Amino acid sequence: EAVVNRIAAGEIIHRPANALKELIENSLDAKSTTIQISVKDGGLKLLQIQDNGHGIKVEDMGIVCERFTTSKLRTFDDLSSMSTYGFRGEALASISHVAHVTITTKTKDSNCAYKASYSDGVIVPAKPGATAEPKPCAGNNGTQISAEDLFYNVPTRRNALKNPTEEYNRILDIVNRYAIHNEGVSFTCRKVGSNTPDVHTTTTATVLDNIRTIYGSAVANELLSLEQNFPVFSLKIKGWISNANYSVKKFAFLLFINHRSVDSPAIRKAIEAVYAAFLPKNTHPWVYLSLEMDPRNVDVNVHPTKREVHFMNEEEIIETICGAIQNRLGDANV
Ligand code: ADP
Ligand code: MG
Repeated sequence: EAVVNRIAAGEIIHRPANALKELIENSLDAKSTTIQISVKDGGLKLLQIQDNGHGIKVEDMGIVCERFTTSKLRTFDDLSSMSTYGFRGEALASISHVAHVTITTKTKDSNCAYKASYSDGVIVPAKPGATAEPKPCAGNNGTQISAEDLFYNVPTRRNALKNPTEEYNRILDIVNRYAIHNEGVSFTCRKVGSNTPDVHTTTTATVLDNIRTIYGSAVANELLSLEQNFPVFSLKIKGWISNANYSVKKFAFLLFINHRSVDSPAIRKAIEAVYAAFLPKNTHPWVYLSLEMDPRNVDVNVHPTKREVHFMNEEEIIETICGAIQNRLGDANV
């Protein structure tokens, strides 16, 4: 059974960056306004996230890493968001099957924090023979989760991830995306031992401020805002898109659907085609798009390792998005 769980876990968690994505989403679900990430060896040695969210109640600590049980912690109101997010209740469980997980957490109603380490979904006793239970300790409100030695028990996977620098770049890419999208939340990401963070945003920054912080003024100064609602599809579009006379070497495409960072090759291609009419050959746009639509119409996980999104009325919605972008570019260039 351990092997089966490990294989299932590997389908969901295939590299440090996507483990981190799940951890960030949990911190955001917990209404955190500060999210600090520390990384060692591209996340292979250590991936740590500290937030100031609502924390985990001590009585729930025994089951947070069990598969599927965590949906019990949630209220009925969350069911719609659950359908948006795909594998509900599997992220922490999966991580605990392929890494050593330690959680330290404190709710605001508790006098102290509690700490527990997990392996294969369950709390490991502090000493052999001791009872497996969370230990009281000092700590601030919020949750710190560490995943150490990712894929220590999956040698083929571990060996496939040879380059910590590449893994770290993927981590930065995920943090950058969530940092830009989440106004009101401060994100920090650093390598363990480094004093200067590689990402740092503040709680007071706007999305455009965040883009400027992360991508620089040259990009930010060229962006056009996009904001439009299409009630027919219960679709809301918000974004910042590069001007028709500004281009970057590589298509930068930051796509959020219902506040989750996703990829949609179909949207990506369609947007590139719109810009192709405006931009010189072999240059590309910079596009941040946040789409909100009825979560019942969105299917985030066609395949667990691909993370491509598909949705109802996909063709019509893509045409609508492209029309909005085209109009905005046209207006800006008369
Ligand atoms: P899901 O998010 O789908 O419920 P996860 O495995 O990602 O499943 O997380 C399990 C549960 O652990 C969550 O439902 C939540 O109750 C709790 N949890 C995880 N991370 C945090 C966090 N940073 N703050 C508060 N609670 C958390
Ligand atoms: Mg989660």
